[in-house]
Amino acid sequence: MNFNNTNFDNYFKNYPDEKGYFGKYGGCYVTPELKAAMDEITEAYFTICKSSKFISELRRIRRDFQGRPTPISHLERLSGTVGNVQLYVKREDLNHTGAHKLNHCMGEALLAKYMGKKKLIAETGAGQHGVALATAAAYFGLECDIYMGSVDIKKQAPNVARMKILGANVVEVTHGLATLKEAVDAAFEAYAKEYKTAIYCIGSVLGPHPFPMMVRDFQSVVGIEAREQFIDMTGELPDAVVACVGGGSNAMGMFSGFLNDPVDIYGVEPLGRGTALGDHAASLTFGTEGIMHGFNSIMLKDENGEPAPVYSVASGLDYPSSGPEHAFLHDLGRVKYDVIGDDDTIDAFFALSRLEGIIPAIESSHAVAYALKLAKKMGKGSILICLSGRGDKDMDYVIENFGIR
Ligand SMILES: *Cc1c(COP(=O)(O)O)cnc(C)c1O
Repeated sequence: MNFNNTNFDNYFKNYPDEKGYFGKYGGCYVTPELKAAMDEITEAYFTICKSSKFISELRRIRRDFQGRPTPISHLERLSGTVGNVQLYVKREDLNHTGAHKLNHCMGEALLAKYMGKKKLIAETGAGQHGVALATAAAYFGLECDIYMGSVDIKKQAPNVARMKILGANVVEVTHGLATLKEAVDAAFEAYAKEYKTAIYCIGSVLGPHPFPMMVRDFQSVVGIEAREQFIDMTGELPDAVVACVGGGSNAMGMFSGFLNDPVDIYGVEPLGRGTALGDHAASLTFGTEGIMHGFNSIMLKDENGEPAPVYSVASGLDYPSSGPEHAFLHDLGRVKYDVIGDDDTIDAFFALSRLEGIIPAIESSHAVAYALKLAKKMGKGSILICLSGRGDKDMDYVIENFGIR
């Protein structure tokens, strides 16, 4: 496949480049001290990821601990509602802890272990990344500090309890608005002091190099499995692949398996309540180029050029940017990024639950909702959706705010 002279045959060898760029996006915009820490991680990763011991250990963990490979399910009854298109879901909801995030957390923690680090540090907003990382820390016997704003701690009591039960230290961040942004700052500050003995674990294909690349590589298991399974099930490739995009890790994992195939790829961003700034979190659709949190990408900015306030019904999607590789694939036109609003998302949440017996995460429901629309447009063929996680965490919220539909 050729898009604007980008040859996808050697894509993973060429992107990112040595400095961590996907075209003009990516890079490593941090203080010199943190740059040294990122360089150490990059070097360790490039050495370790070629080691057969590391690879076979990660494979064993995925099989024996995470329960991989996760299956693909054919959505027969839901497909029946959209005419002749057949819908399939890759079941990351069946990955241990109920979402795809553990795929990169286990990789990051295994790397930490190989590097001789004693502690994992991260921030969390809704608590999903914190829980996945606390799980990995428990598995490997590492300490774990999760920075979280006091506002989020109050809102996300079950995830705070999970992290504590798993043995993580939840560090309350009280300054400013006391939500995700402050937690990111506090976690980076702590890491700058502790980087000799600790490693920072980013929760998506975001942040300074090497994280967008590393998290993609760890998530690529989703796309590799899915491609093989889909061919096995149907004898051919899907016509389209769809995934929701917050930071973009589940999408990058899935897409990476199909970039070099004649398959249409769609990244779905949250339109929330509408197109006004502050009502959505569709950064690739409405944003512009800019640097934040250590990397250059496409982002939503306020009038001062700072990260804009964003909204989505899905707490895992409300981030004012997306990973640099998505910005690159967006500009190339290899992936089409589009939006879906809250209302269609909640309808899809109930449709998948009622017709298929699968309660999806609200994040994943965005991908399902978009696939339903796309199916009506396509009229025939097949769509493979990345079901990034299960919806147990969202049930109370949905019933309280939307009732039973
Ligand atoms: C965190 C999360 C997302 C969004 O993160 P990406 O990095 O964009 O994948 C999507 N789905 C679920 C279930 C999540 O927990």
